[in-house]
Amino acid sequence: MHEEPYTQALLDLALREAGGRRIVAIRLGVGQFSAIVAGAVEVFFRHLSAGTPAQGARLVFETVPLELTCTACGRTSGLDGGPDAPVRPALAAALRRGCPCGGARLTITGGLGFDLLGLTVEGGDS
Ligand SMILES: [Zn+2]
Repeated sequence: MHEEPYTQALLDLALREAGGRRIVAIRLGVGQFSAIVAGAVEVFFRHLSAGTPAQGARLVFETVPLELTCTACGRTSGLDGGPDAPVRPALAAALRRGCPCGGARLTITGGLGFDLLGLTVEGGDS
């Protein structure tokens, strides 16, 4: 279980950004390749946010697609098959294929993380 420290960090950040206002909703970006389980985050969030201004906030999860960048030309690309396709085979295929420029090395530059995208607080957006 990796979700508890991530959820605590997220909650701390959200509370800091809200500046004491009550948080109604939190938008979260979950990387396609992050291995974060949204359901587990929900459970930890309910527990960790009890008694804070974030108690009862709605969590909205958005999938952040995996992004690959060619180390030779800087071109970015995603994976075939969209966000619901199995990631590992699509990633293996993309790495094997390389870049149209002939560059063979692609690095993962997006879709790994777990990020706070935005907050809705009582009395307006922050
Ligand atoms: Zn390239």
